[in-house]
Amino acid sequence: MKRLEDFDFNAQPALDRRLFAELATGRFLQDGRNLLLLGPPGVGKTHLSIALGICVAELGHRVYCTSAMELAQKLTRAVDSNRLQRELNALQQPKVLILDEVGYLPFDAVQASLLFQVIARRYQRQQSLIMTSNKVFGEWGQIFANDAIMASAALDRLLHRSTVINIRGESYRLREKRQAGTAHALPA
Ligand code: ADP
Ligand code: MG
Repeated sequence: MKRLEDFDFNAQPALDRRLFAELATGRFLQDGRNLLLLGPPGVGKTHLSIALGICVAELGHRVYCTSAMELAQKLTRAVDSNRLQRELNALQQPKVLILDEVGYLPFDAVQASLLFQVIARRYQRQQSLIMTSNKVFGEWGQIFANDAIMASAALDRLLHRSTVINIRGESYRLREKRQAGTAHALPA
């Protein structure tokens, strides 16, 4: 359970806490705005996406949260057992779909096209996605199995109505360790 109240905004001074207070109202869902949280490991992307998911759930909406690789594997199994349409339809049901760790593990061409279908379908129905990634947009071709055309078609849809938040800085985990004297800061 990662909540917005537990997030230390003082540790991330570049992050606008008013923006998160606004996102917590769920208004961004009305026109299917997407939220993309980008940045290196440990800066709070998963924490913030789960926290917003909890806010949306508390507003009474259905929320589905998964890692991008888990979703790709689930859909690959669905292809194998002739259930793809059913699974894709199920992914249209939640008010917000949270895809964590997009780009951490490379997708093969089939997984890339399945992820694309999820993005395209939700876009078509103006349904929000929250995504986290360690990859900057210029590297999204790598996420889509080096298919630059699919990557730009996905980004086009994702970014059309979106809020993009780039989080920088030191990993919160390492920072805590360093402050406890058990780790040194990584070189920049
Ligand atoms: P990321 O998904 O960007 O790799 P996480 O959200 O998993 O990072 O954060 C790593 C750990 O540090 C989690 O336990 C998270 O709750 C905590 N954390 C990160 N940033 C903050 C912060 N600013 N305030 C409180 N906890 C944080
Ligand atoms: Mg994470």
